[in-house]
Amino acid sequence: VVRAVGVCKSYGRLDVLRGIDLEVASGEVMCLIGPSGSGKSTFLRCINHLEKVDAGELYVDGELVGYRKGGDKLYELKESEVAFKRRSIGMVFQRFNLFPHMTALGNVIEAPIGVLGKSKAQARARGVELLEQVGLGDKAAAYPNQLSGGQQQRVAIARALAMEPKLMLFDEPTSALDPELVGDVLAVMRDLAEQGMTMVVVTHEMGFAREVGDSLVFMDEGVVVEHGHPRDVLTSPQHERTKSFLSKVL
Ligand code: ATP
Ligand code: MG
Repeated sequence: VVRAVGVCKSYGRLDVLRGIDLEVASGEVMCLIGPSGSGKSTFLRCINHLEKVDAGELYVDGELVGYRKGGDKLYELKESEVAFKRRSIGMVFQRFNLFPHMTALGNVIEAPIGVLGKSKAQARARGVELLEQVGLGDKAAAYPNQLSGGQQQRVAIARALAMEPKLMLFDEPTSALDPELVGDVLAVMRDLAEQGMTMVVVTHEMGFAREVGDSLVFMDEGVVVEHGHPRDVLTSPQHERTKSFLSKVL
């Protein structure tokens, strides 16, 4: 579903991604770990068309991100074309950023109606289903400020799923939560993984990575240092940098 070949990204003179090679297969759950500033969020943002790749090639579902090939030339996509492609990718951030003036259900049905053109009835029916899926069937009418952080994050996941994405990106979805609320969010993500959703998850939750992840990637200074089965990476890391990072987080 995702293929990165030598992906590079710089901000001015700061080289944030320095040749990322990665593939995420359909139905795969890839967990991404690494120190602060190593480029994890930037990589997710590139996949989600929020940043332009400077060099290398990034494909989502076989299509080049950000560009169109015309003969042997590359043309940058227009904003509207980018927006269209972004529809099929769900993204969940550390901060849930729900619309505060809309109910949980209102948040979930907004884009399906506004962007996909679903009827209100259709969107509501699916929205209620999705809220049930994330364990919030009884909170449809609640406003974000009436929900806990963990509940808000689960609404954010339902909202992303309402667009019927073929890929879900999570950027430290539980980092802003009180510890006792983390489990419910991880449980929803685990269910999603079991249903076969393709997921890339930046996380510090090593238990999740070990139990749910199909692969684990350790990134440092804009490169992939280690990539393997979570069990192998966690129990017998091959590189010094991975070892030293894991000794701090485990
Ligand atoms: P964290 O674990 O702290 O979230 P990260 O691995 O997600 O870190 P990124 O957010 O990808 O790291 O940032 C990588 C580097 O790029 C950092 O040094 C950051 O300051 C820089 N950076 C990120 N976004 C921008 C931007 N829009 N403009 C300039 N520099 C940026
Ligand atoms: Mg980040």
